[in-house]
Amino acid sequence: MKGNSVCCPVCNSGYDCLSPLPVISPCIKRFTCCNCKSIFANHGYVEAHQDLHSSRATSPYSSHYSVARKVLRLIDAGNLDEAENIFLRSFKYKFALEYIKSLPSNITILEVGSSSGQFVGFLRALGYEAYGSDISQDAITNAGDMFGEYFFLQSELSRQKKSFDLVVLMGTIGCVDSPSVFMKSLIDLGCQKRKTIIFNAPSAHYIDVTGLKWPDTLPPDLNILFHEDFWALYFAESKIPNFFSQEVFSLSNSFLARLVFSYCRRMNFVQALNFLKIFFDSVFFGKKVPHPYGLLCIAKLN
Ligand SMILES: [Zn+2]
Repeated sequence: MKGNSVCCPVCNSGYDCLSPLPVISPCIKRFTCCNCKSIFANHGYVEAHQDLHSSRATSPYSSHYSVARKVLRLIDAGNLDEAENIFLRSFKYKFALEYIKSLPSNITILEVGSSSGQFVGFLRALGYEAYGSDISQDAITNAGDMFGEYFFLQSELSRQKKSFDLVVLMGTIGCVDSPSVFMKSLIDLGCQKRKTIIFNAPSAHYIDVTGLKWPDTLPPDLNILFHEDFWALYFAESKIPNFFSQEVFSLSNSFLARLVFSYCRRMNFVQALNFLKIFFDSVFFGKKVPHPYGLLCIAKLN
């Protein structure tokens, strides 16, 4: 691939606006964009997410399938509290669940990037009218087999003639090819009246503070890390004034778990020392470490 054919997937800025960063691997380059301040990976691997869903044995998405089967067993056993605890252990699904529970119970919900369907299945068990969409046919088939025919291919979503009060994207927006275009398609989906979009976004701030090359979800799965102000500017430019965001910072214990995890996988000695320094600064001097996926966002379209 020619270097000058690269452009920013977030704002489409050309090569002149991009600064190369040290590569993640020989095949995966990194750039930072002077315009939108995002950091993105360039790997040239098309159909990556279809392949990730298809290869259940080796894919990071295999854990979603295991969780989905566990959630299904708990729903079938009538143990919704235990099923809920699975989601409450994930900060992003805790955020989504708490938000959903603050709304009337008769809302229609769409989860975009529903993977094996566990969250949609759980919401339906709670009594919500919930649906899921994904770009992977394998994910749609698996989710439908487990939780019923409530899942659509992303490309067929606009043909469903449904309106959604709430659109939920957890762990998705940093994985799509063109986040601005993708978000616009969700804004335009169905009837806008009353619609709210909630999502979490991966954070370039995490890379700035830790000096790491990438969070623990690697390309070609996660490809884009956003500046913490990007989505506020995006919705302001889209004339959607009701946008709220919050940046989550890691607790020391989860940060330590990340250190051990990253060290075991690929961190070199110098990076590990840097990471340890950040950890001690956070424990003893209260320095805040951004969560790698911790930009929590709510956009109300009405
Ligand atoms: Zn950009």
